[in-house]
Amino acid sequence: MTPQHTRLYERFMVTTAGHVDSTQIYVGGRWIPSAGTQLIDVVNPYTEQVIAQVPAGAAADVDVAVAAAREALPDWSQTAVSERAAYLSKIADVLVDRADALAAVVSQEMGAPLRIAKLVQIGTPIGTLKTYAKLAENYEWETEVGNSLIVREAIGVVGAITPWNYPLHQVVAKVAPALVAGCTVVLKPSEIAPLIAYEFTAILDEVGLPPGVFNLVSGTGPVVGEAMAAHPGIDMISFTGSARAGKRITQLGAETIKRVALELGGKSASVVLSDLDDEAFAKAVKATVSQCFTNAGQRCTAFSRLLVPAERYDEALATAAKTAEGHLAGDPMDEGTKLGPLVSEAQRERVRGFIARAQDNGARLVAGGADNPEGSGTGYFVQATVLADVAEDSELAQNEVFGPVIAVLPYTDVDDAVRIANGTSYGLAAGVFGADPDGALAVARRLKAGQVDVNGGRWNFMAPFGGYKQSGNGRELGVAGLEEFLETKALQR
Ligand code: NAD
Repeated sequence: MTPQHTRLYERFMVTTAGHVDSTQIYVGGRWIPSAGTQLIDVVNPYTEQVIAQVPAGAAADVDVAVAAAREALPDWSQTAVSERAAYLSKIADVLVDRADALAAVVSQEMGAPLRIAKLVQIGTPIGTLKTYAKLAENYEWETEVGNSLIVREAIGVVGAITPWNYPLHQVVAKVAPALVAGCTVVLKPSEIAPLIAYEFTAILDEVGLPPGVFNLVSGTGPVVGEAMAAHPGIDMISFTGSARAGKRITQLGAETIKRVALELGGKSASVVLSDLDDEAFAKAVKATVSQCFTNAGQRCTAFSRLLVPAERYDEALATAAKTAEGHLAGDPMDEGTKLGPLVSEAQRERVRGFIARAQDNGARLVAGGADNPEGSGTGYFVQATVLADVAEDSELAQNEVFGPVIAVLPYTDVDDAVRIANGTSYGLAAGVFGADPDGALAVARRLKAGQVDVNGGRWNFMAPFGGYKQSGNGRELGVAGLEEFLETKALQR
């Protein structure tokens, strides 16, 4: 690390008072040098400055981390569930104490506005940890069926590979249930936003998690991630990220018949039904557009398609445009900022490409656009963008943009709305808004998606989260999220 990088990174060390050296990896309860010879720059997407570096780990790092995790497994898997749950509670307490500082780390490494970062990026992991601490105590680890005793055991060593958009949530949604199940873990966080994983690792160390139970190896997907997917000492890979990487991991994992749980992308639809009065209709459109633009659209569940009755198309476009215009871009560290930058220059160029090609295909720009917002200096921004007249089978209507871009599509009747909503290769999330709750629920039942929010239904930590079709094959959170990390054994007596 150059002196300048060290100085910049020191600003992030408010939480752990400098205990973390982000240029190392964490194996067997110790920070050690990586076998990799290169470092990866971590760039603040608002200032466009390098703020830290992490090792570009090597396959040899995975070998030592897996060895440490295997050594720790027999003891850890046999500890009392209450002991494992107590660790989760302790970790949650530290996150609560340091929420402000941790939110700042996330904001600075991936651009989420600070207020949202505290509420969602840190608040959600706290909720997940607390929920699993409680759930573990109440879960039926053993049941009886006839003459069989059915026991649930840890699957073994888990390899967790996570993305950058909710960089702590995605780590905790895997690590919390894996630990409570009795598994040991090797984590490879996203190389684009790895710093919060370093902070989290320091917290696990601080609460005294036994050596080897949790290990951190930073690096790129093709090197560290693929070494994990192929590793015979890893029993399961839990992956969140793109379909492209998910396919590769599945192929590599097949060699050792690993369990591979995938949480992938989405092209989620929000269906606004025709029975809503004007005020409720406007509220539904506004809620959909705001949901889509949260985290600058970099959320796998983004309602990136707004489906409205054809006869109310113009009404919907006007409200969508007004909502977008309220999403002012700015410094993520400013309390008032609603729209942060995209995570990287590459991501901004990707999103700009989607907007340009959609317009070439005849889509009409109703709000926003690919350029930086007026007056912005640095920062990888794309404006909050609303596109109309988007062909149903076009790239923009079918593929995940992962940016603040919403396509508004008209439908003729409910059957047509369901057909359009289900008409992509994804099936992660959806929304339905309607005046008649039973009618809205009936539409929700017809949608091929793992999570459907009816009339803005709240987030539920106990509800399973995951996708149909190419959005994945696993479920996180709640009981289903715990059972991903368990083997089932039947003992006949
Ligand atoms: P990505 O697939 O590029 O990277 C995700 C992780 O996988 C990173 O740690 C990366 O280093 C690693 N990786 C990349 N290639 C790999 C390979 N060949 N082998 C092993 N590991 C590899 O995705 P991203 O750009 O970081 O994240 C965005 C994607 O994640 C979007 O598609 C988004 O929808 C998806 N996502 C899904 C969920 C969900 O729960 N369903 C949540 C958030 C994000």
